[in-house]
Amino acid sequence: MRRNLAAGTAVILGAMIVLIGAVEAQNANRRVLFPTDAQFAASAEAQRLVREAQVFVGDDLEREYANMCTHTGPQRMALARQQAGLPPLENFVVEPTRIFDNMWFVGPAYQGAFVITTSDGLILLDTLNNTEEARDILVPSMEKAGLDPAQIKYIVLSHGHPGQTDHTGGANYLQRTYGARVAMGKPDWDATLPAQSPERPLAERDIDIVDGSTLTLGDTTLSFAISPGHSVGTLAMFIPVTWHGEAATVMLHGGAVQTPDRAAFNALERIVNDVAKPEGIRGLLNTHPGIYQDTLADMETIRANPEGPNPLLYGEEQAQRYWSMIVECARARVVALDQIGGASR
Ligand SMILES: [Zn+2]
Repeated sequence: MRRNLAAGTAVILGAMIVLIGAVEAQNANRRVLFPTDAQFAASAEAQRLVREAQVFVGDDLEREYANMCTHTGPQRMALARQQAGLPPLENFVVEPTRIFDNMWFVGPAYQGAFVITTSDGLILLDTLNNTEEARDILVPSMEKAGLDPAQIKYIVLSHGHPGQTDHTGGANYLQRTYGARVAMGKPDWDATLPAQSPERPLAERDIDIVDGSTLTLGDTTLSFAISPGHSVGTLAMFIPVTWHGEAATVMLHGGAVQTPDRAAFNALERIVNDVAKPEGIRGLLNTHPGIYQDTLADMETIRANPEGPNPLLYGEEQAQRYWSMIVECARARVVALDQIGGASR
């Protein structure tokens, strides 16, 4: 009996070791993007930086602070709900929304795209998941908004992951159908093309974006920085917009300002210090609504009162504090990550 018990224990132990081995193998392939809540809270230096970030909050950035200064930083709505133990929200196609005079949001609530109107056609930012979504959701939404998809001259993909197509999957169809040219960060082309699956082909490689690249169509010039972290070639895009005729520039950051290592953090800090602050960038966008702000509610506000103030634009002084806060919160996360042995395990 005793022997059987011992043998049984050995079998169970062996099974556990195999299981632990499998979990470790899985973890080795997965990049750690942020510390755990407990690791973040336990880091005195991270918490000191969080308190530094609080200085910039004032009485008008409280929601943004709550969103930015956590162990994960901003997250996709679906992920954040999952981690909070909340049921997923029902996905739906958002009413196309003219978020600025020259920029529209089109697509589903969890994953959309932006269309920039210029004097010489359209620039599309991101393309939804796949051919079906591009054809059956993106194109009809554009048409509903009075935007002719045949006028898409450029597609800019905010980022891509090897083997995953949530931003890039529709580009192949749009490139073939409308002859649009397709741009993505050079490192992300390099990473994603070898990993594409025949069922979900990516667009043909066309324009490589590098740090400092610009793209001009008609009267509109976008400029770009590479801001790695969420993917190796995630783009930060600087987009000139107007609201009721008043000019402003906003940033689209494709990767939720994730900085899982020093290099990614340094890139973000440089983008903020060299571009966002000196050039007075007044808003931060992502094609996943809800990452940086309650975008779905903000778009409802805009649709209900298109003559009103734009909730996606910060005031000039407020924007400066916003950027400072983002950097300190990201610095806190990378410090906590350093303390647990760095980004990749
Ligand atoms: Zn992504």
